[in-house]
Amino acid sequence: MDASSPTIDAVPAMVQAVRAVLGKPQGTIALHEPEFGGREWDYVKECIDTGWVSSVGSYVDRFERDLSAITGARHAVATANGTAALHICLLLAGVAAGDEVLMPALTFIATANAVSYAQATPHFVDSEERSLGVDARALDAYLGEIAERRDGRTFNRRTGARMRALVVMHVFGHPCDLDALADVAARWGLVLIEDAAESLGASYKGRHTGNVGQLAALSFNGNKVVTTGGGGAVLSNDAALGRRAKHLTTTARVPHRWNFLHDEVGYNYRLPNLNAALGCAQLEQLASFVERKRRLAARYAEAFAGVPGVHVLREPPQTRGNYWLNALVLDEANAARRDDLLAALNDAGYMSRPLWTLMHQLPMYAACPRMPLPVAESLEARVVNVPSSARLAG
Ligand SMILES: *Cc1c(COP(=O)(O)O)cnc(C)c1O
Repeated sequence: MDASSPTIDAVPAMVQAVRAVLGKPQGTIALHEPEFGGREWDYVKECIDTGWVSSVGSYVDRFERDLSAITGARHAVATANGTAALHICLLLAGVAAGDEVLMPALTFIATANAVSYAQATPHFVDSEERSLGVDARALDAYLGEIAERRDGRTFNRRTGARMRALVVMHVFGHPCDLDALADVAARWGLVLIEDAAESLGASYKGRHTGNVGQLAALSFNGNKVVTTGGGGAVLSNDAALGRRAKHLTTTARVPHRWNFLHDEVGYNYRLPNLNAALGCAQLEQLASFVERKRRLAARYAEAFAGVPGVHVLREPPQTRGNYWLNALVLDEANAARRDDLLAALNDAGYMSRPLWTLMHQLPMYAACPRMPLPVAESLEARVVNVPSSARLAG
């Protein structure tokens, strides 16, 4: 410890609190593990037995119907992964080459990469402390400074580029401030897209995440709440957007009994039936996963209640989080101890990770336009994720 530091070392008490929740590990406790305790084996075996393993098959249709039922979104189109789903959302939003897309600097790389795939430029915006999601008020004030509405379109006065969409993200399964963000998007003529990759099973004011924006993307990567091995989905309540999502993700093929007719450049983004079969079995367990993850989160909150200098991230008011990953948030005064905490936790067998490196700090996105990012930068120095698998709730 720094000799000038007046307080006792905060790190051992934090490790002790994690131990109080998880017990002493045999080996290493992973950050997040998939759980296959349902009918996964039966459904996957059926694909193999019947030969329906690829991009056509009953499990893909069923997976999409199940996703609609769970999220309340009228249309769900399964994709090969979440990044592909985001790419399609951006194209459906009308994002074109040279446009700017507003998105948080505090997110996983997929959000920014999808913007690049659409030949657009990410424009990074700041986050709020409460939800870790985009700060609606700061964004609105910033747009007041730099944006200009002309002929029903919105432009960045500094770069001259058209700003077409706002992507928001529900960090670790905590819904961001959707009503306020939808207001900002409407006021500035931006299409609102929800990156709901981490928030399956999480709701905002009683509505499942992914229903407030015109479009949303889900992910079923191996580390997400529900996994298909790899996979994703586009959600929308607009029938035309739903149809177009399906068309673009299936090589823009015009249905015909035998002809190969494609009417635009499409993508081979369809989720294989084999993966959808896994997904159907996983969705049957979603409620149990979320219920146990919420119980685990409550135990972390209890264990850390008496530990000074840190708090456990809790769901914002009027939301119900899925607690995909539990997050410890250090006080500013303890920010310098983040790496010591990470080392101590990992040494003790509790796999722990910092926040993603912020997008504007990565070489390929360093030159992108951005607003001042004081909160995102402060959070990056203070957040630590701790083991969060549903099975840890016991
Ligand atoms: C996981 C994730 C995605 C999508 O990732 P894929 O691995 O392509 O499914 C997108 N955005 C965020 C924020 C994510 O966490």
